[in-house]
Amino acid sequence: MMVPVYILLSLLLLTTPVQEDAYKAQREQMVEQQLKRRGISDKAVLNAMRSVQRHLFVPPAIAAEAYSDGALPIGHKQTISQPYMVAYMTQVINPTPGMKVLEIGTGSGYQAAVLAEIVKEVYTIEIIPEHGKMAAARLKQLGYGNVEVKIGDGYAGWEEHAPFDAIVVTAGAESVPPPLFEQLREGGRMVIPVGPVYMTQTLKLIQKKRGKAVTRNLMPVVFVPFTREKQK
Ligand code: SAH
Repeated sequence: MMVPVYILLSLLLLTTPVQEDAYKAQREQMVEQQLKRRGISDKAVLNAMRSVQRHLFVPPAIAAEAYSDGALPIGHKQTISQPYMVAYMTQVINPTPGMKVLEIGTGSGYQAAVLAEIVKEVYTIEIIPEHGKMAAARLKQLGYGNVEVKIGDGYAGWEEHAPFDAIVVTAGAESVPPPLFEQLREGGRMVIPVGPVYMTQTLKLIQKKRGKAVTRNLMPVVFVPFTREKQK
């Protein structure tokens, strides 16, 4: 049986927006149930979490789980953090439109995209080349022109673009890498999980005040380890 062309066309027109809306509704639900209820209140952060299409940052096979309340595997033993954790880490740096932010641990590029929705410039470093390349391509394709991805060991920071208004570290470090603190501007904020590898870490908020670190322990967290490039 022949299906009239106009039916095929209207089906096409229908399916695309419906698909979009299904995820949009899931994002809204994520914002209401996972974020607002747990105290995420910064409007810019909530809007960014509403906008970024998280399902495009996870492997296609698990896209349907993208808005669930947990971390998800992204390959090479790495994970994309739970939506709440991404929102929380973004909120604690008090992001504003003029800021320049450094992220260590690009992973899927999701946290970078959330930051990029709010601040002026995002610099992000990833040690696993496959992840870095994929994230860079994805961010470019999605139109995030204000994110720059570098492949390398984030321990050394990104001197060329320093100082940063804020630094977000998304891998668990045994201690705060001194170059990162140096590259934080006076008054700037760094959020970083610190603790032994493969154990519970403490999420810390470090503010640079008169050149000194003022540290606040935020909560226990579990992140994948901050690894180091072999020293040459
Ligand atoms: N922010 C990511 C999730 C990061 S998972 C997202 O939104 O998807 C942590 C990432 O940090 C992993 O991809 C890991 O490879 C990377 N990483 C670990 N040690 C690193 C280092 N020294 N420098 C840069 N990236 C590092």
